Amino acid sequence: MCGIVGYIGSKDAKDMVLTGLQQLEYRGYDSAGIALVHNQEVKIYKDQGRVEHLRELCDFAFCSHLGIGHTRWATHGVPNKINSHPHISNNGRFVLVHNGVIENYKKIKYTYLNEYTFYSETDTEVVANLIEYFSNQGKDTRDAILMSISELEGSYALLVIDQKDPNKIYFAKNKTPLIIGVAYDGVTIASDVIPLAGHCDQYVGLEDKTFGYITKEEIHLFNYFNKEISLKMKNLDLKNNEFGKGDFDHFMLKEIHEQPSIIRHLIQEYFDKEKINISPEIIKCIKNCTKINLVACGTSMYASYMAKYYFEKLCNIPSEVFVASELVYSSPLILDKPCFIYLSQSGETADSIAVMKKFMDKGYPSIAITNSVASSMAHLATYHLDIFAGKEIAVASTKAYIAQIVVCAILAKAVSGQKTNLKNNLSKAALAIEKILEDKILIKNIAKEIVDATNVFYIGRGIDYWVCLEAALKLKEISYIHTEAFSSGELKHGSIALIDRGVPVIAICTQEGTNSIVRSNLIETKSRGAKDFVFAMESMSEPSDDFIIPNVAHYLAPIVSVVVCQLLAYYVATLKGNDVDKPKNLAKSVTVE
Ligand code: GLU
Repeated sequence: MCGIVGYIGSKDAKDMVLTGLQQLEYRGYDSAGIALVHNQEVKIYKDQGRVEHLRELCDFAFCSHLGIGHTRWATHGVPNKINSHPHISNNGRFVLVHNGVIENYKKIKYTYLNEYTFYSETDTEVVANLIEYFSNQGKDTRDAILMSISELEGSYALLVIDQKDPNKIYFAKNKTPLIIGVAYDGVTIASDVIPLAGHCDQYVGLEDKTFGYITKEEIHLFNYFNKEISLKMKNLDLKNNEFGKGDFDHFMLKEIHEQPSIIRHLIQEYFDKEKINISPEIIKCIKNCTKINLVACGTSMYASYMAKYYFEKLCNIPSEVFVASELVYSSPLILDKPCFIYLSQSGETADSIAVMKKFMDKGYPSIAITNSVASSMAHLATYHLDIFAGKEIAVASTKAYIAQIVVCAILAKAVSGQKTNLKNNLSKAALAIEKILEDKILIKNIAKEIVDATNVFYIGRGIDYWVCLEAALKLKEISYIHTEAFSSGELKHGSIALIDRGVPVIAICTQEGTNSIVRSNLIETKSRGAKDFVFAMESMSEPSDDFIIPNVAHYLAPIVSVVVCQLLAYYVATLKGNDVDKPKNLAKSVTVE
């Protein structure tokens, strides 16, 4: 799940790679390393910790024109210096960084590499030595790499330097992203377009099972049959300043504030007056199906519950939400004509991609709803819809959640053909979020009341319960407080045993039909010592409520009430002094299964 960057060109590779790695830290940040060519020799710097620390280790006395770097999210072996990338082969010839997981690394060790010594606990070191193994059999480097990757099972984006010819960067790609960008001064290769922005004019996203090499002027790309592939370059019009924090202390806070404008942007993108701009093929695909299977992970999975609600209520199509990582290994009963909808912010979620491949192989159509048109899922799926949220940098997702829900609401309306007031109601929701943002000091004050808690519970019913799931996830992700969401009616069936004196319980009340009963359930927890909080929609609020959510259409309440919970999580985490944008143990783009 890490980030990798390589640069070859007339600029200083050290700067290019370190800056690129810093921009990719959202992908992983437990260790970092860099290999730089200087006077035809490779110098390696690496350690546990962030890229900022790596910058301090690097020698800035020399200028290099070729480098590869890595910011790690450990899968095999603890984050320490030895396990950090780059890794080198036993004879020191091949230097390599890797994003992904080599599933058969143990088998490769026993089959080919019994004579080799392994210094790290990583799966990656096997690849460096396997290339050396084939090279020692007289193969040139390109063939040695091809023979090696042909043996690998799993996911990898690899960058390799051959110390005998340190004027090229070799690369290989399968199941994790790798993008090559071209600028007047050289070539950059990275896990994401961000390190290319403001610098490269053109880029190409690589297909799975491709490999090749770059020089200062050339890119050579091959398939696994060793056949050269022509490059389909695209124009890159991302500016570097799109990735700054602006006036905000954290990306998360900036992204929370972007939400009203994202809703307005989605209205512009998807509505042409009252007509909805969605490909008729996508609409037909859903209309023709007898069941919608929504597949996702984490925050996108919680957004999928709202999608289920819209498809069932508006389109009358039974819908079910699946946890992607479970569906990969199970065989649910699939009847008649299902359609699969995949929600993923990055479009690179390995668990969801695995499910997508599994069910596309069986012939079922897929619709990917992602925040990246250049992503693997957008590319693989039968159809793709963009959520237009703009790059989300903070690891804890905020704006992508509401954008996914809005796109699903628009899609369901388009499929149903019903005359709802969605466009107008979305505009009102954007205004309501702006009002919440104006009142955020009130949320900061609530944060002060729960910052020292060890457990915090969210309760709600129906739509509100689904928001509670996302609210609890947000709070635990960045505050490290144990939080859980309960359907408030379920509390009495067991979970109420967890309520103790002073435990904060937050009720979300935005739905007329369940408001009173959720409040009764809250009183049950209060009677057992809980410290109760209510976030209620204005029309059903009571004077003692802790935060009043401006009125919006009941079916859009989640995209508004969640903002209160996002801000609460943000303030609790900042009060605790946590690194809000890069919470521990997490990475944004979960490209391992
Ligand atoms: N599997 C490799 C490791 O644990 C790479 C992980 C990553 O993608 O950061 O070092």
